[in-house]
Amino acid sequence: MEAKVRLFVDQPLGQGQAVALSADQAHYLFAVMRLAKGAMVALFNGRDGEWRAEVAEAGKRGGVLVCDSQTKGLQMPPDLWLLFAPIKKARTDFIVEKAAEMGVRRIVPVQTRHTNSERIRQDRLQAHAVEAAEQCGGTFVPEVADLVALDRLLAGWPADRRILWCDEGMVGARVALEGLEAGPWAILIGPEGGFSDGEAAKLRAMPQVVAVSLGPRILRADTAAVAALALWQSVLGDWQ
Ligand code: SAH
Repeated sequence: MEAKVRLFVDQPLGQGQAVALSADQAHYLFAVMRLAKGAMVALFNGRDGEWRAEVAEAGKRGGVLVCDSQTKGLQMPPDLWLLFAPIKKARTDFIVEKAAEMGVRRIVPVQTRHTNSERIRQDRLQAHAVEAAEQCGGTFVPEVADLVALDRLLAGWPADRRILWCDEGMVGARVALEGLEAGPWAILIGPEGGFSDGEAAKLRAMPQVVAVSLGPRILRADTAAVAALALWQSVLGDWQ
């Protein structure tokens, strides 16, 4: 029997492993999706690949699934982080969802000088990343970090991770990613207000930073994030 539902769980997965469901998961599987005992579900936890599991117990407030066989190994995305300045709620959700679909290891909301939103709901954004992985058949879920100040992040930045800085100051320049080496990378997207002069100067001075143009038009931050991810994935990532 084919599994109709894909579900992210936090527990370990493996041959014969029993997985206890939370009340929310039980509600989703048995009330919303109307699965009954004996039905098959595809499970993944971000670590152990994807497993086919059978409903062994179906209750109102809980249930148990038992893993039967592995259907996919863990597919790690390339070692890419997305750093972005949060914008309006729906657009921030969009950025997290698209990054999880397109393949990143880590999503880091950054507070810049002109960032509009002072706060994010990390748990809500993480839930969006989980949902995106459930939808797109992914076996990995990128971690969404807490909001961090750009200055602080750059002060402790690892020497071996390069930053593809999407610099609106380069609008109209040729989009040039050829010649860049694969390895640990991060893409940096600024807020609606762009980067401040001080931030731009600091970024320009870092040896890890490569400034790039995203073409002849200024893109909104959510569009810029998707465009940069597609570019990076096709030149340096796993779309090649
Ligand atoms: N208000 C700013 C634009 C901000 S656009 C201005 O008018 O200058 C939001 C972010 O998207 C930017 O900080 C940058 O990271 C990215 N971006 C948008 N268009 C871009 C382009 N053509 N080239 C490079 N980066 C771009």
